[in-house]
Amino acid sequence: MSEEIFITENAGATQKIAEDLARNLRPGDFLAFYGNLGSGKTTFIQGLAKALGIKRRIISPTFIIVRTYEFKPKTKNLKFKPKTQNANTFYHIDLYRTETKEDLLGLGLDQIVNDKTSVVAVEWAEKMGLLLPDERYEIILTDLKEDKREIKIKKYE
Ligand code: ADP
Ligand code: MG
Repeated sequence: MSEEIFITENAGATQKIAEDLARNLRPGDFLAFYGNLGSGKTTFIQGLAKALGIKRRIISPTFIIVRTYEFKPKTKNLKFKPKTQNANTFYHIDLYRTETKEDLLGLGLDQIVNDKTSVVAVEWAEKMGLLLPDERYEIILTDLKEDKREIKIKKYE
């Protein structure tokens, strides 16, 4: 397990950290997000999506729990194969309103987690229980005060 800790003072700085992480992502990567409401999970994921080359605006998926975005990897730094002809899929999932394992299975979360061609980002990942993959990034956001956030990024492999 490796761990990095950052402190940011505004939303843009958090998105910059997300962009740096995006450069290291590969198809099949899973990102688990933890942190209170307003701590910056969606903000971070917006930065991630932009760096992946997603042009559509990322909105909070709270009411529609799973949102999917097709993208063609744009950055040559990305570890996605540059010759990829097919679009890759980015899943943005917010489990805030889910309660049971049946809810998760109803969303197809078990299949999404095993999709080795996609990048998957899950807010409120503590709700995943045993569906949480062993290989994953954990992004843990803490609001320190007003616009100040601590961002801890752990990688389990
Ligand atoms: P969550 O998805 O965790 O509920 P959001 O990303 O939706 O949180 O909201 C975070 C809010 O905090 C946004 O309005 C964002 O602009 C604001 N904000 C202020 N400072 C920061 C920071 N340093 N990092 C991330 N968001 C910040
Ligand atoms: Mg959110």
